[in-house]
Amino acid sequence: MDIAIIGSGITGLACARRLAQAGLAPRVFDKGRGIGGRVATRLAAGGVQFDHGAQGISCESDGFRTVLDQAEAAGHVAAWEPGTASTTHVGTPGMTGLAKYLGHGLDLHQGTEITALTRTADGWDLKAGEPLGTFDHVVCTAPAPQTTRLAGPALTRPLDAVTYEPSLTLMVALHRDLEAPATRSNPTDALAWIAHDSVKPGRPTQNCWVAQASADWSIAHLELSRDEIATLMLDLFLGLHGLDPTDVAYATAHRWRYALVDTSLGQPFVTSRDKTLHAGGDWCLGPRIEHAWQSGTAIADDILRTA
Ligand SMILES: Cc1cc2nc3c(=O)[nH]c(=O)nc-3n(C[C@H](O)[C@H](O)[C@H](O)COP(=O)(O)OP(=O)(O)OC[C@H]3O[C@@H](n4cnc5c(N)ncnc54)[C@H](O)[C@@H]3O)c2cc1C
Repeated sequence: MDIAIIGSGITGLACARRLAQAGLAPRVFDKGRGIGGRVATRLAAGGVQFDHGAQGISCESDGFRTVLDQAEAAGHVAAWEPGTASTTHVGTPGMTGLAKYLGHGLDLHQGTEITALTRTADGWDLKAGEPLGTFDHVVCTAPAPQTTRLAGPALTRPLDAVTYEPSLTLMVALHRDLEAPATRSNPTDALAWIAHDSVKPGRPTQNCWVAQASADWSIAHLELSRDEIATLMLDLFLGLHGLDPTDVAYATAHRWRYALVDTSLGQPFVTSRDKTLHAGGDWCLGPRIEHAWQSGTAIADDILRTA
């Protein structure tokens, strides 16, 4: 069975891994350069490194705990409990460690944006500008609005009930040490979450910080340019810590338009009527990495049941 998976975030990787373990050979396509989607690690000039997407991993289910234990034993995940969130683990040496563990040995095609998905008599034709081929089965794990654009009419349930909060994120490297807690969470502040990235286990860098704006602040400033966002957030960060611009070695910002699921669909995946198309993601079950893993795994199990 030829299977294409759109998206190499945790949902797509969890699905592909389960299918590969059952002897299938799914091809995974993602428009991004690296795997992991919103589980992201930015490497920049001067050897600095930031987890600018998901900050940590939390776990409530036995199934996901088993995966975390295996990833930890393989050196891609480490225990970390900052106390300000439900986080118990982080990827190492960056958050993408978890994605690298799940993606090991898979047939991954990065830099490949799927632009069209068309049902034909022979299966599903995929295009990334150019035709990529015809597949018996397609799994779409893009965020809900992007899944709707690609595959909406073929799905048995509309996804408009799904809502997200955006997140504007600042990455700062300092020339000097800063006396501040490893994490600081204050949802009503403009800078709602601040983490000293370098103190997470296994980080190769010093003095790298990540700050995430609150949902309200992010919504109000969402359409500014990345430079404008970086300037405003850096001012807030420096003011909060009594720092001077000369203390800053590096600063940049990232805009996550679909960051955290606010309203999920309440079921692990959606299919087409003939069940040759599955769609899923964190947007099915909730705002966390574990929800993405659960959706991807449930899709794979459903495909294997009918294969
Ligand atoms: C700032 C921020 C902080 C967060 N903090 C935490 C946290 O501390 N703990 C936690 O558990 N979760 C956190 N999350 C949420 C967590 O990152 C997500 O729930 C999870 O990573 C979602 O995985 P996914 O695979 O469903 O989606 P994604 O990671 O979004 O993956 C979807 C993939 O599809 C690709 N794609 C989309 N369209 C196409 C196309 N047309 N063609 C090809 N590829 C396409 C994208 O490039 C992407 O790689 C955070 C998220 C953000 C943004």
